[in-house]
Amino acid sequence: MKAVLLVKDYDKETNTLGEIGCREVDKPQIVHDDDVLIKVAYASLCGSDPNLLKGLFPFKAPFQWGHEFSGIIEELGPGATKKDLKVGDRVTGNFYKTCGACHYCRNMMEQFCPYPEENPKAQAQYFVLRESQVYVIPESVDLMDATLIEPFAIAVRAMERADIKIGQRIAISGGGGIGLMIAQLARSAGASTVVVVEPVESKRQIALEMGADVAIDPFSENLVERSEALTKGYGFDAVIEASGNTKAAESCLEIVGKGGTIVYFSMYDMDYNLPLNLFNYCYHKEITIKGMFLAQLVFERAVEMMVRMNLRPLISKVYSLDECKQAYEDQMSGQYAKLVFDCQK
Ligand SMILES: [Zn+2]
Ligand SMILES: [Zn+2]
Repeated sequence: MKAVLLVKDYDKETNTLGEIGCREVDKPQIVHDDDVLIKVAYASLCGSDPNLLKGLFPFKAPFQWGHEFSGIIEELGPGATKKDLKVGDRVTGNFYKTCGACHYCRNMMEQFCPYPEENPKAQAQYFVLRESQVYVIPESVDLMDATLIEPFAIAVRAMERADIKIGQRIAISGGGGIGLMIAQLARSAGASTVVVVEPVESKRQIALEMGADVAIDPFSENLVERSEALTKGYGFDAVIEASGNTKAAESCLEIVGKGGTIVYFSMYDMDYNLPLNLFNYCYHKEITIKGMFLAQLVFERAVEMMVRMNLRPLISKVYSLDECKQAYEDQMSGQYAKLVFDCQK
């Protein structure tokens, strides 16, 4: 079968990016009792996928890649009996499997499980996950949209971390796939003002389509002045940083209101330190700063919530697996919201 692989590692000495390629590999087999073999329909690129080429993940070439997908069950292991899954079911899944037994798993913090099984190999024609990682797609959600469920789960958790109350004002820093999903969620969660801050014009357009009231270009507009005007001078009740850009991360502090919350959930540059004036932001303004790592516990609810979402405007381009080099280049350009592989093409 065809699969997308890291074919050459990042070279630290020369700071040369790794390479991605489409290769023939063995079709995966049912190995564990509870394995589910899935014929992948669509697999989307994650904003963090290009980090593989920058050496930020502990995997060495050749390494098969991808974690956002939708597909159809082709075969079930004999022990995959707990979720009433059937061959032919339309499914998606969570690539990150936790142990269920450790301190973190038993205390609603599965994301910190020290014994995870990671299986990020979904940009391929077939893919195997354990039954506990597989979710049936609601009937009204089509397969192409369903590949977005994993990033959507991140959006759901980011909203919950932001703790928005009805009528509050929210700003989303970054109009990538997840930022735009948050805009739509914030609208349905009852925010009175939803603002997306995004330098790319086409993404600002999608932001407005997705339910944002205003989309600000931080390069050509004065972000602080516009934010003050939009919030009667109070600043935003919540700011969610969804761009991963460190400059943008800093501007969140300038637009959050007194008593407000900032959620930083992106994968930032490992060496970056946010300058934070504790007197001003934590003492004087009582800002709450929250982080976030994965969205294990909201995954099932995110699947259910998909029936209320319109995520199709996010899908900018569809590629065959053979076109993976181009797809990764396009992802790195920052011009697109979500890029998707049609895995059977
Ligand atoms: Zn992802
Ligand atoms: Zn655990």
